[in-house]
Amino acid sequence: MSNLRELYQELILDHNKNPRNYGRPAQTTHEAHGHNPLCGDRVTVYLTVNNGRVEDIGFEGKGCAISTASASMMTQMLKGKSVEECHAIFNSFHDLVTGKSCPVESLNQLGKLAVFSGVRDFPARVKCASLAWHTMQAALHDQKDPVSTE
Ligand code: ZN
Repeated sequence: MSNLRELYQELILDHNKNPRNYGRPAQTTHEAHGHNPLCGDRVTVYLTVNNGRVEDIGFEGKGCAISTASASMMTQMLKGKSVEECHAIFNSFHDLVTGKSCPVESLNQLGKLAVFSGVRDFPARVKCASLAWHTMQAALHDQKDPVSTE
C-alpha cells in the first residue's frame, strides 16, 4: 500500500510539473469547459475525433496538482483510443475514485491511473480527480453548458 502511495505522490508531482498534451491541438472536433468551484479548478478539454477514434487530445486550465495531473494522465491514456473505449475507461475511472467495486479487468485497463484510488477517502479530492474526465465526456457529447462538479 505504501508503494502505491509513493507512486501516487510521484505521478501527481511529475504530471503537475510537466503536464502532457497541454494546449489546444491544431484541429479539434470537440471541446468543453469544466469548473470545480469547491477547489477552483478549471479545465478545457479538446479532442480531435476521426472515424470514431481520438486522434488527438489536449487540455488547458488552472487548478490544483490533482486536477492537473489527472487531466494530463487522462490525455495520455485516451490518445488513440476509440470513443467507446473512452466511455468505458471513464466509467472504470469513475468507479475507482468513487469507491465502487472495480473489477480486475477495469483496473488493468486503467494502468497507472489506478493510483487515483487513493482519493476515494477524500470526497473533495474526488471532484478534483474527476473534473477533466467529466469535461471529456461533455466534449464527446457536444455539451454546450460548462461542466460543474457542484
Ligand atoms: Zn482541485
